[in-house]
Amino acid sequence: MFEDRTHPEIRDAVARLCGDFPGEYWREKDKKKEYPSEFVKALTEGGYLSVLIPEQYGGAGMDLGSACAVLEEIQRSGGNAGACHAQMYTMGTLLRHGSEAQKQQYLPAIAAGELRLQAFGVTEPSSGTDTTRIRTKAVRDGDHYLVSGQKVFISRVEYSDLMLLLVRTTPRDAVDKPTRGMSVLLVDLREAVGNGLTVRPLETMLNHATTELFFDQLRVPVENLIGEEGKGFTYILDGMNAERILIAAECIGDARWFIEKASDYAREREVFGRPIGKNQGVQFPIARAYVQTEAAAQMVIKASDLFDAEEPCGSQANMAKLLAADASWAAAEMCLQTHGGYGFAIEYDIERKFRETRLYQVAPISTNLILSNIATHVLGLPKSF
Ligand SMILES: Cc1cc2nc3c(=O)[nH]c(=O)nc-3n(C[C@H](O)[C@H](O)[C@H](O)COP(=O)(O)OP(=O)(O)OC[C@H]3O[C@@H](n4cnc5c(N)ncnc54)[C@H](O)[C@@H]3O)c2cc1C
Repeated sequence: MFEDRTHPEIRDAVARLCGDFPGEYWREKDKKKEYPSEFVKALTEGGYLSVLIPEQYGGAGMDLGSACAVLEEIQRSGGNAGACHAQMYTMGTLLRHGSEAQKQQYLPAIAAGELRLQAFGVTEPSSGTDTTRIRTKAVRDGDHYLVSGQKVFISRVEYSDLMLLLVRTTPRDAVDKPTRGMSVLLVDLREAVGNGLTVRPLETMLNHATTELFFDQLRVPVENLIGEEGKGFTYILDGMNAERILIAAECIGDARWFIEKASDYAREREVFGRPIGKNQGVQFPIARAYVQTEAAAQMVIKASDLFDAEEPCGSQANMAKLLAADASWAAAEMCLQTHGGYGFAIEYDIERKFRETRLYQVAPISTNLILSNIATHVLGLPKSF
């Protein structure tokens, strides 16, 4: 049905693994707002969360296209990789900008699944999307930084051993460009929680293990600074291309799940003495969602190919994310409509996937901010902010 069969061995193996975690599993987790530990354990043991870690550090050393195939298949099976996808890419900042000693210390343990680095703290209540206005600051005190401030919507902190944290080390008005003066710290959550870091779960419309974080003079060793002080924003931006492409692949997986589910239902459900799928009013939205998804999938492939060739891919990553998130949301809307009242029944999994895929219009970057980036950086239109 779908044209894209890149990395067939990976897709088949992930699909088999996901077969052990059917709709009932995800429904139960969603209902109880529980972390899908069994699923994450199986993925970890299968080596799928360390595919991007180079072989010299114990990972599979695969490319981004392979990682996209893993995440797409999870979503396509009806699951939700949001519980652990960051374990795949958050380490990228450490890999690209960390010292050799930091890489030796952490990457093999991350690759082995002994250490979880799947929390990434950027968003704050007062700055929102305007990252250069973050207020969480780190002040040098001997061989430590003292971190104070607040973060919001930080996912998976309770299920992570380490967190990458973006902080201000020089005030915004003391640097020549607002993007300067921010730094990335690797926070050891096992030591930090209760010793300057308070974690408060934040319930959202989907089961995403999201939290609010409160820092009160948290001591972080200076040796946990990634790269150079003041250059953290560039490091974070670097990692965002991989994140956007991988999440775009998840959206393609979601869209394909919705399209398949709707097509099956439209063939089987009979009203007025014929399958509902015989009505063009039902057929056409399914066909349109398919067309939209296949087109978006091509942009995801293009962006990941550029990434893997180490070519600039910022706008392609943004476009892939926007098109794929739009395709998955359109497919979700179509699938729910195709199912009529049954689309709202929890046992069909559609309403859960509908809520889950809606996130990607907002996070990790909202559609408006992508459009703004394309308008000003690609098309040369005047900046609005
Ligand atoms: C479930 C969940 C999990 C998350 N996980 C993480 C995480 O692990 N780590 C992390 O750091 N963050 C995380 N986030 C935060 C997420 O990245 C932000 O919510 C998102 O970037 C938007 O920021 P905001 O909510 O502050 O919206 P705001 O910045 O307040 O924006 C609100 C709306 O206004 C629009 N807007 C704002 N400024 C402009 C403009 N100049 N032009 C046009 N439109 C504009 C935005 O597009 C948005 O639609 C998560 C969020 C959710 C909901």
